[in-house]
Amino acid sequence: MCYETESGMEGKGAGKMGFDPDTLFFAAGICATALALTMLSMWLQNRMDSFLIGWMLGMVLLGGGVILYATMSPGLPVPVTIAFTVEIVGFVAIYVAARLFAGKQQRWIATTVLSITLALPVGVPIALGFNGLGIAFYNVLAALLLAMTALQYWGVRSEAPACITGVTLLYMLSALSFLACGFMLFRSGSWVLEQRPDNWAEHFNAIMSIAGITGIGALSLGLNQSRVARRHRLEAQTDALTGLLNRRALFDNLASDSLCPGDAVVVFDLDGFKSINDQFGHHAGDRVLCGFAQALRQNSAQGDLIARMGGEEFVLVMRKAPPAVAASTAERIRAAFAAQPVETAKGAVRGTASAGIGFCASPDEGFESVLHRADTALYRAKNTGRDRVATELQAVA
Ligand code: GH3
Ligand code: MG
Ligand code: MG
Repeated sequence: MCYETESGMEGKGAGKMGFDPDTLFFAAGICATALALTMLSMWLQNRMDSFLIGWMLGMVLLGGGVILYATMSPGLPVPVTIAFTVEIVGFVAIYVAARLFAGKQQRWIATTVLSITLALPVGVPIALGFNGLGIAFYNVLAALLLAMTALQYWGVRSEAPACITGVTLLYMLSALSFLACGFMLFRSGSWVLEQRPDNWAEHFNAIMSIAGITGIGALSLGLNQSRVARRHRLEAQTDALTGLLNRRALFDNLASDSLCPGDAVVVFDLDGFKSINDQFGHHAGDRVLCGFAQALRQNSAQGDLIARMGGEEFVLVMRKAPPAVAASTAERIRAAFAAQPVETAKGAVRGTASAGIGFCASPDEGFESVLHRADTALYRAKNTGRDRVATELQAVA
């Protein structure tokens, strides 16, 4: 939004088309408030999406500021100062929301300093009666904040290229419309405005306010929904306790990318785990399971699949792993787990694990068949004393 002097009134053709910037700004304010409520209800369902709160706050401030601006007489310094200052803070909130969406850390002190620094050159001149100067600064700073917001989205465009390109474009167009208003005001050089403006920049800005708020709002909601869906998909594939793949995800992975000759499957089973639970409690048992998952993560290679099959049983799938490599990897995991006691409320727990290794022998062999042979080797490891690795007999021969 911007004010313009009589001398700066241009582009009246737009007025003949029936645009009334005040009404458009008022409508934009209502849209922003409605979107804020939508964002709030979405945040109540997914409270980890903190960017929704930043967006909601931004929309409330922008909506409130715009409605105040559109309904008050431009000659009243107090409501106009409040309207434009509140809006600048609203743009800062939108920028912060974009940073949160892009996975950046929220820095409260920096945000407060930024809000005050940007609100001062807007609010002080308007309060002192130089509304033209304050509003010119407002337009330029709003453009800057919108461009910075656009850059945050652009940085994560790989997540949803079409949608994020649309959001970025809308932010940049909105920034351009504010810049145009600032340019018109600075060009006119009138620092004290008597009446509301009516020029091409004002009309462009009013239209972009509506298009920006509704378009960006719809796209942002879509982006958030696809994030939620992706998170649910990931949760369905992850073991909640250890963060490893769960049994279903492992089978799904191997159904789409089946085993090849030379691939190795290692089954691990923690030794005497029931007595750990009995002695130290179930919670301590859980910590031991996490400790084993950590040993698996730290000692497996990129491209290996690691999963918790259930209970205290884990599986490692290694691609193109000769028997010696598979055996030494399994041994490294066993030794790392045995050497690392897990601290619990009832003292340190030192667990051990046994492992069995099976190898894929032919392209037609399914995962389950190799798993079965790895299991047979595991039973041998258990029966010959536990805390050891056994390889399937064909591979040893
Ligand atoms: P073995 O050396 O023969 O493997 O004996 P074990 O005690 O490890 O095996 P058993 O199958 O008798 O006991 C497994 C125990 O694992 C029983 C079950 O209560 C426990 N368990 C299964 N899932 C969980 C879990 O998520 N957390 C905890 N703390 N315990 C679990
Ligand atoms: Mg078991
Ligand atoms: Mg066991």
